[in-house]
Amino acid sequence: MGKCGAMIWTRAHIGCGNREERCWQSFYARHSRLPDPGSFRHIAVVGGGPKGLYALERAVSALKDGSGKCCIHWFNSDNFFACGPNFRTTQPEFLLINFCIGHIRCHTRALPVSVIPSFPDLVEWIAAKTTSEERPAAEDFASRALVGTYLRDYLYCLFDHLPEHIEICMVAREITAMEPLPGGRIAFPPLPGYVYRSVLLCTGHCYDNSTSFPDEITEKPGFLYFRSPYPVALLDAIPAGDAVAVLGMGLSFTDVALALTEGRGGRFHGRDTLTYSPSGSEPLLYPFSRSNLPMIPRMGIYHKTYRLFYLSQEWADRLKKKKPLDFTSDILPVLQKEICFAYYSTLLGSREENAVSEYMDKLPGAQRFGWKQLLFPAAQWQKEYSSYGAFIIDYMAHTIAEAEKGECHSPLMAAAAVWRIATPLVAQLYEFCGFTGESHREFLKNWYGPLSRVSFGPPVVNMKKVLALIRSGTIRLPGEPPAQLRVDQEQVMLSVPDGLQTVTALIDARIARAALEKGNNRLYANLNDKGLVTPLVNDTFRVGAITLDRNGRVITASGSVLQVYAYGTPTEGTVLDNDSLSREKHNFGALWARTLKENCYEKT
Ligand SMILES: Cc1cc2nc3c(=O)[nH]c(=O)nc-3n(C[C@H](O)[C@H](O)[C@H](O)COP(=O)(O)OP(=O)(O)OC[C@H]3O[C@@H](n4cnc5c(N)ncnc54)[C@H](O)[C@@H]3O)c2cc1C
Repeated sequence: MGKCGAMIWTRAHIGCGNREERCWQSFYARHSRLPDPGSFRHIAVVGGGPKGLYALERAVSALKDGSGKCCIHWFNSDNFFACGPNFRTTQPEFLLINFCIGHIRCHTRALPVSVIPSFPDLVEWIAAKTTSEERPAAEDFASRALVGTYLRDYLYCLFDHLPEHIEICMVAREITAMEPLPGGRIAFPPLPGYVYRSVLLCTGHCYDNSTSFPDEITEKPGFLYFRSPYPVALLDAIPAGDAVAVLGMGLSFTDVALALTEGRGGRFHGRDTLTYSPSGSEPLLYPFSRSNLPMIPRMGIYHKTYRLFYLSQEWADRLKKKKPLDFTSDILPVLQKEICFAYYSTLLGSREENAVSEYMDKLPGAQRFGWKQLLFPAAQWQKEYSSYGAFIIDYMAHTIAEAEKGECHSPLMAAAAVWRIATPLVAQLYEFCGFTGESHREFLKNWYGPLSRVSFGPPVVNMKKVLALIRSGTIRLPGEPPAQLRVDQEQVMLSVPDGLQTVTALIDARIARAALEKGNNRLYANLNDKGLVTPLVNDTFRVGAITLDRNGRVITASGSVLQVYAYGTPTEGTVLDNDSLSREKHNFGALWARTLKENCYEKT
């Protein structure tokens, strides 16, 4: 049981351990030998995470009635196929998914006929496998390692249903370049002889943040610089007692904090409020970020959710006709109105618009809750707190308590839920440069971060742990933003509330975004240099992503047709919010699969 009511399912609950990993290794060994090119038709999927897995199922289902042998080469940087880096089966069990298990299903009936007749959703799967007396509920949470095990089970199931004429070959190899061939076909230069009739890129978060810091910091002798905290086992290199700067205060910061404390033998005690007993092996953590604000946590939200009042499909359909839109003038006012309505309708227990408006009108302006208090709560911290740290501790305790009430009872959580629920509607307006270039830039720079901070936070139990770590002194809070790193010949220092703190390590705990022109990914930089992809430019705004057509196919610099498609994170920028386990959202993998039969069998 988690420390705040919801069950947290781990691999131990389904009796899963080293034996399962050994089975995987032998399965991988059996299916990772590249057959001679021979008479196969070849297809490539680059990226072995969940999106690659989903796309594979679509590809096999689309090709199931073809005649003639077809081999799908599935490339990944390592052999963690199906789970990818984020749901690695070998990671510590305290690293949790960020929403409840009811939302996770890797097989969907919403798609056309599949070679897989049926496959359970995560709740059903745990129920069938668990050795525990407890029954899983949709609102429970799970370790990411358990979700990885579930995804891998789906891969086994896909292999069980492979038609005879289709082979899947898993290749643990990073693809760094492509060569265009006549007819839109592709070769990967290090693999001579293979001609791919179609390629899907589902490379996930493969970008690099390291250009954000000067070499004086990242290459300073003796200084530990982590361009990403994953896999968290890398952080074992940090000595106990050292002072560590952590850039980013979001979901990855929570992972870092737990890896360096619970992962080093520290223990949390209690139920409502947690306390922390250190093991003595922890370093001291100094987190900082652009806003220096923690996220708002979430309980498992499944059945009981806030219902939007003003934002609706009709609203989105009306706005679609006006594209390109300006986020601040066309969308934000209605979003703000909805946030206020969510807050006060929940407070009053009434969705009667007049009653809610009358109540709000009677409140003095300064007392009225609005989007500014939700998104930028630190604006007036000096009025009530002796220090910024005292404000953060109070803010965390308050948001934890509100999250535990749930969004149908807590006005704050109802307001925070608005963006989460409205994102699919706004995504329809955003996609394919639906905002003007200037508005696109402003939305990504100023709004997307604060909105995500309040709506897509970690499970409550993890935020309670972070708060316990702050109270124990293991995490030292930043002052009012901005905090800055400085470097001189001897040391790297972080500005903290009472001066400068020398740090011996820096962990970049931000998820890097695509920055094509900065070349922050080797494969995409190579494709860009060769004109095989083109940078996405909205008016004058250079988005950093690649340009795609409506089917997710890359647009080349010369306009020539290349059978290369993208799915998942490489489509961010063109679409909004594709970064989840969802099979339904922006399913470019299914669109790609529809093109395969023609590319494989009808064209020679
Ligand atoms: C730490 C973390 C936790 C998350 N937790 C959740 C969660 O709880 N729930 C949720 O819905 N979402 C979560 N997400 C979002 C997550 O990105 C998606 O759920 C999911 O992992 C996306 O799957 P994907 O296949 O697109 O990408 P990934 O899972 O990132 O897989 C991409 C794979 O492609 C490989 N690759 C990249 N480039 C190449 C190349 N050139 N050649 C060969 N291989 C390559 C990578 O090594 C990687 O294995 C989390 C993300 C992170 C970073």
